[in-house]
Amino acid sequence: MRHGNYVAEPKMHGVVFHVADLRHWHAIEIRCGGCRKQVMIDAEAAVRRCGKDRSSTDIEAKAKCQRCGKVGDHTVRLYKVSRN
Ligand SMILES: [Zn+2]
Repeated sequence: MRHGNYVAEPKMHGVVFHVADLRHWHAIEIRCGGCRKQVMIDAEAAVRRCGKDRSSTDIEAKAKCQRCGKVGDHTVRLYKVSRN
């Protein structure tokens, strides 16, 4: 499964992590449970947009969808970024 230069890291699926634990080779995908919109952001953007003290479960509970406006009911997945 590829999203541009993002390559899925299946091991990380379902793992709870904090934004502060992300490294520059990580990206997170946030998917809305309402309209299924998926947003992929890199670690730097996650710190900027979510705050480094947030955990993935916080993001799942508090994310707001930019398409349908739904708050919560999001799914976060951790990806490893491949830059080849
Ligand atoms: Zn949505």
